[in-house]
Amino acid sequence: MTLLDEILKFNQSYIEDENNSYVDTDTKCSKMPSREMAIVTCMDTRLVNFLEDAMDIGRGEAKIVKTAGNCVTGPFDGVVRSLLVCIYELGVNEIFIIGHHECGMSKTTAASLSEKMLARGIAPEAIHMIRREMEHWADGFQHPGENVEETVDELRMSPLIPEDVPIHGLLFHPRTGEIEVIVNGYYVGLF
Ligand code: ZN
Repeated sequence: MTLLDEILKFNQSYIEDENNSYVDTDTKCSKMPSREMAIVTCMDTRLVNFLEDAMDIGRGEAKIVKTAGNCVTGPFDGVVRSLLVCIYELGVNEIFIIGHHECGMSKTTAASLSEKMLARGIAPEAIHMIRREMEHWADGFQHPGENVEETVDELRMSPLIPEDVPIHGLLFHPRTGEIEVIVNGYYVGLF
């Protein structure tokens, strides 16, 4: 059975299960996050169903944007765009940038990515086209904590995000679930 078939088979029984507590009969659960918050975090598999539990965030409560290494790579990149929709369309009033220990991005380099893409038959010209951007992104990521700080700084300096929206920077432990505060967004700019 393929992975897709496996998932579809499960899904059929899932939606038919009358005891399924996740079926959306609650009209209070909407696309507007009830806790008016957005999280930008990493796509790391260990965070799935763990970061939310460790923060006591349930369905309908927060917007979650996931990328490799929770980075912002430009003034209007995918993360910024998502956050603008969160703030201006979806009632988000607080942002959490959450990196994590043991992030794979701290070991990923533009050179290693290029090498693996070439080995998979990707055209050198295609890699050349993105090389500078890829170096800026992948080689710029050294330490998960520093990356969180830089990402918060970049967003804080964005002229597109209102100053009254706190931007916090947190570091999550993917094995213990512990959260460390790197930047407390309530205090930034007060000193
Ligand atoms: Zn990561």
